Amino acid sequence: MTYSEFYRHSIDDPASFWAEEAKRIDWQTPFTQVLDDSRPPFARWFVGGTTNLCHNAVDRWLPTQADKPALIFVSTETDEERILTFGELHGEIQRMAAVMQSLGVVRGDRVLIYMPMVPEAVIAMLACARIGAIHSVVFGGFASMSLGSRIEDATPRLVISADGGSRAGKVVPYKPLLDEAIRLSAHKPSAVLMINRGLTPFSSEPGRDHDYAALRAAHLDALVPVVWLESTDTSYILYTSGTTGRPKGVQRDVGGYAVALASSMKHIYCGNPGETYFSTSDIGWVVGHSYIVYGPLIGGMATLMYEGTPIRPDAGILWQLVERFKVTVMFSAPTAIRVLKKHDAHWLSRYDLSSLRSLFLAGEPLDEPTSSWISDGLGKPIIDNYWQTETGWPILTVAHGIDNTPTRLGSPGLPMYGFDVRLLDENTGETLGPNQKGVIAIAQPLPPGCMQTVWGDDERFVKTYFSSIPGHQVYSTFDWGVRDAQGYYFILGRTDDVINVAGHRLGTREIEESINSHPAVAECAVVGVADPLKGQVAIGFAVLRDPAAAASSADRLALEGAVLAVVNQQLGAIARPARVYFVNLLPKTRSGKVLRRSIQAVCEGRDPGDLTTIEDASALNALREALAG
Ligand code: ATP
Ligand code: MG
Repeated sequence: MTYSEFYRHSIDDPASFWAEEAKRIDWQTPFTQVLDDSRPPFARWFVGGTTNLCHNAVDRWLPTQADKPALIFVSTETDEERILTFGELHGEIQRMAAVMQSLGVVRGDRVLIYMPMVPEAVIAMLACARIGAIHSVVFGGFASMSLGSRIEDATPRLVISADGGSRAGKVVPYKPLLDEAIRLSAHKPSAVLMINRGLTPFSSEPGRDHDYAALRAAHLDALVPVVWLESTDTSYILYTSGTTGRPKGVQRDVGGYAVALASSMKHIYCGNPGETYFSTSDIGWVVGHSYIVYGPLIGGMATLMYEGTPIRPDAGILWQLVERFKVTVMFSAPTAIRVLKKHDAHWLSRYDLSSLRSLFLAGEPLDEPTSSWISDGLGKPIIDNYWQTETGWPILTVAHGIDNTPTRLGSPGLPMYGFDVRLLDENTGETLGPNQKGVIAIAQPLPPGCMQTVWGDDERFVKTYFSSIPGHQVYSTFDWGVRDAQGYYFILGRTDDVINVAGHRLGTREIEESINSHPAVAECAVVGVADPLKGQVAIGFAVLRDPAAAASSADRLALEGAVLAVVNQQLGAIARPARVYFVNLLPKTRSGKVLRRSIQAVCEGRDPGDLTTIEDASALNALREALAG
């Protein structure tokens, strides 16, 4: 079957398509209705069915691979390694589940997980899934304000945390941040469960705080059966990255999510039971949920969990891990590859990568130079994935489990099965044809795996996502894109970031791509800045592969001229930024996404707005200094 036939089936007859895909997981009770879309835009998948994510991720594999690795943990921060087989993971999950129950957690309760990348975090997520508690993982090391607002929104009975994390050799104490977050939140969890890694001392609040090691020791033989959940029950809440504003609590189901992931492991990632999957993401992000924890395990694969950076002890560490653990599928982000790009390419060819089939990248636009650099260096296919926290799995990519659809540089690919992707005019709602720029939208129903609603706020769900295109109740991605005649999509930036220069609408991504093609540039960001004459002008900020290239002001001027000339030649004078400044650092979210909204505010001398998810706030000062000359 060709991909286009496969795709058509999914759109023309979703019920029969997904009934077939649903066979990839175990059901305790079969569903009676594949899709209930009687109350649009809410879609309920596999109604009447009962199942469990933990069962499908772990218990299901016990008969065939109890002694095979399930969770491989490597920390270059603490020099630890641990391998848990499916059997051992099963035991640990039950101990954790018993401890949670002893602290009063029951089905439907929220459990907030604020943890570094350690096995206990995955064990806690799966233990929640096992007993029907709803987890909400918050990226470890988030400041008290962001953590506090999530505690207040998710109202957890229990918070699971650790003494600290470690980043590039520096210990980050978590407990003081957590204590302060709880103080700030109107909702107070009744218990806090602490995993003590021995990294940093912390104070405990008697009666509220509990030590995991002590409680675990009391539950070593725990047998905690799986709680069979309705397919449409809630499995977790996860907040979006906050690149464009206040984060939204994405709420996900059980059965639809399990089916979507099982299906993607087969058709998109081509991972097989017994192999190893390596995602460099963090459990605090959606990629971590779907492709560190649930996806690989539901697919019977071992998942490699890595605490560390891509360049310590050296820039070859990721590939060394691929060799050692015979990784077949790898998932990372363009931001990580751009970090590697500042180091010698020889690190990419030092290890035996024969097990590795492809490298998937997602989260930010993948520019052509970065894609080619990593593909040439590794000698492996690079597959771009475009998706959102809201969708849980890719909207656009290529499905090499179905056919060998070629990839196209600069494009994530084609709409994935189940996603009825449309390109619409944001003002008229009109459907656009090839080579016309518009908003990327998804017609209802959203496929299995996508968000059910905004946690606790159905109205915000409808208003935010389904009300922005006039005359059509379609899901807006708020991304701006274009499609070529063969159906490949190109992401041109966020709709907020579209620049209007003298009446021409330009996506910031197009200009960034062009700047990135200059060999001295490692990465860049372009924003539209108010201009009295032209409406808006583009301003660029570029990070150089070698900062010494712009050491003197004469060097800077020459390089800026050269970069502007590239844009001029590739896109024309209209797109040429008014200025390109060289900086050492771009303001990014903790998940590595460029905060263009804040850059724009700084350029216009405005308040940069909500910065709770920024990685390093000093990056904004660097921009101010660059602007001041
Ligand atoms: P918020 O919605 O709170 O502003 P966010 O949109 O950054 O945060 P995520 O869900 O983590 O939160 O990110 C999804 C967005 O990331 C997409 O809408 C898109 O803008 C961008 N993105 C993800 N993958 C790609 C990709 N392969 N190419 C281009 N852009 C991508
Ligand atoms: Mg978003």
